[in-house]
Amino acid sequence: MKESNIIIIGGGGAGLTAALYTSRAKLSTVLLEKLASGGQIALTDIVENYPGFPEGITGQEISQRMENQAKRYGTEVLYQEVTGIEKKNGKFVIKIASDEEFIARAVILATGASYRNLEVPGEKELTGRGVSYCATCDGAFFKDKEIVVVGGGDSAMQEGIFLTRFSPKVTVVHRRDKLRASPILQDRALNHPRMKFIWDTAVTHIGGDKKVQNVKLNNLKTNQTQDFRTEGVFIFIGHDPNTGFLKGFVELDQKGYVKTDLKLQTSVPGIFAAGEIRQGAVQQLVSCCGEGCEAALAAQAYLEH
Ligand code: NAP
Repeated sequence: MKESNIIIIGGGGAGLTAALYTSRAKLSTVLLEKLASGGQIALTDIVENYPGFPEGITGQEISQRMENQAKRYGTEVLYQEVTGIEKKNGKFVIKIASDEEFIARAVILATGASYRNLEVPGEKELTGRGVSYCATCDGAFFKDKEIVVVGGGDSAMQEGIFLTRFSPKVTVVHRRDKLRASPILQDRALNHPRMKFIWDTAVTHIGGDKKVQNVKLNNLKTNQTQDFRTEGVFIFIGHDPNTGFLKGFVELDQKGYVKTDLKLQTSVPGIFAAGEIRQGAVQQLVSCCGEGCEAALAAQAYLEH
């Protein structure tokens, strides 16, 4: 059992910024992270819209720098998956997979969100065999191979452009005839010589014997179907919040995001939420970091009173 003033659950931009602020306020801080610091940002090739880095900075580098900065002021970062949380004798008890317990007087939830599955036949079976959700992790396996990207948001465009480093042809399959991505990424993707677009179309099946060989496409306007040859399918169709471990402990909205007040306090006093896990959060690194700061200051005020 380990006791601290504050426990931060999740080591993405929100959690690491919260940790920087609470540890600089001399509150003992433990940050519990399931996988690796940085969260989704660590899987991003290049971050171009975080102020102060006019040339951009790799997702891995900024994640590592944020972790080092929080540790410099005393944050203890532990790689543990949180499985549950409860309140006992006025303190919060955080449970992890190994049944060990962590105790704190205040908690900041910052577990973010995870990629969404397409839920079509073949997807599960061929994940890691041509189906991927991370261009930075897997792109290099697709040198000189044709790739399909599913989705029309910022992730699909940014990661699709990244994949053209390896692939001679990246075909974006999008269910509408308009992209959701920001104009700058749309421009880059639509004008990229190695990127092609198939509009108003859904991927309904991913096929292949041991490795991806094709996808079935269905035009949602004409209902025409076609088999489309490809060796890779990268899926970027949004995210769902990582709130399963909360099990009704704090109030969630219908989509599973944590509800907070303007001070980022959840329905349970002493528990705060920051970043993508939070209802209404803007899904950008800079705003998630801003929320991490806000939650840290609110938690500090809660502990002082
Ligand atoms: P997103 O903005 O929610 O876009 C998801 C895309 O997938 C949409 O085009 C959506 O289509 C499509 N989609 C959703 N469910 C689908 C399904 N079942 N089948 C087929 N297509 C489906 O998600 P995101 O691109 O991952 O971005 C998430 C957030 O992170 C956004 O706020 C984004 O701005 C931010 N982000 C920013 C950057 C950057 O600033 N460089 C980079 C990455 C992400 P519809 O358009 O028809 O709904």
